[in-house]
Order: sequence, then structure tokens, then C-alpha cells
Amino acid sequence: MLRKIASFTVNHDTLKPGMYVSRVDGDCVTYDLRLKVPNAGDYLGQGALHTLEHLIATYVRSSPLTDEVIYFGPMGCRTGFYLILRDKVGKADALKLCLEAFAFAADFTGPIPGAKRRECGNYRGHDLPGARREAKAYVNVLKGCSEGSMEYPD
Ligand SMILES: [Zn+2]
Repeated sequence: MLRKIASFTVNHDTLKPGMYVSRVDGDCVTYDLRLKVPNAGDYLGQGALHTLEHLIATYVRSSPLTDEVIYFGPMGCRTGFYLILRDKVGKADALKLCLEAFAFAADFTGPIPGAKRRECGNYRGHDLPGARREAKAYVNVLKGCSEGSMEYPD
């Protein structure tokens, strides 16, 4: 019998763009970085999603919090990303890190890190202008977030 995993129990019909605590496993906190309204017909383009993966992963792993970063990667539904940090990083600092990372991506002029053929599984599948556009929009979303807005809606 397959278990229904916690992130599938979130009501995606009431989820708005934002930053949420998805789950906590021991000292690892998974953040849901939701850029798009689920099932609303507007999704991150595959190329923009891929480029943002490279840019944000590189940024957070180059930041002073690098030792607390476990993972950053895209959701298959193309409405956002997951960021896993150690709980040593508080929610306010996690939010600050995301704001800085997406501001970095919004202004990034290239070359895209890790996007050479031998470094990436689909090195032609990038869209920097799209990534910049989506990052800029998400910075505005994050500016409206706070420690108190990180719980999923009912
Ligand atoms: Zn890649």
C-alpha cells in the first residue's frame, strides 16, 4: 500500500504564491517556494525552471549559509521549488536568503553556471530571460512574506 505523502495532503486549490514550511524531518526544514498558483494554467517554462535551478542552487551554495543547505530543486509540476535547510537557519534568515537569491537571479547576466555540456543533463534547455522575469516576479512575492506567513493555508 502506497502512503499518501504529506505534500500531497496540502490543499493546492487554496495555495497562493509564497514561501511555506512544507515539512520538518529531524533538523532539516523543507521550504516550499511557490512561484505560481497551482492548476491555474500559468506554469514556469521548462527552460526558465531549469535556469533558475542552476542560478538559485549556485547562489545558496555560495552564500555564508552554504553548510546549512541540503538541497534546492524544482517541483515537477513547474509551480515552484523546494529548498531544504538545516533548522539552524531560522525562518526569517531562510526568507532573507531566498530574497537575496531570487534578486541575484533577476539581475543575472550570464554565463549560466554549470550549463556546459559536460556539467548538465540538458545544457541547451535554458532560458535566462525567462528565468530573470520569473525571479523578478517572485522577489515581489517574497517581499510580502514573513515568518508568520509560512504556514500552509487550510
Ligand atoms: Zn542543468
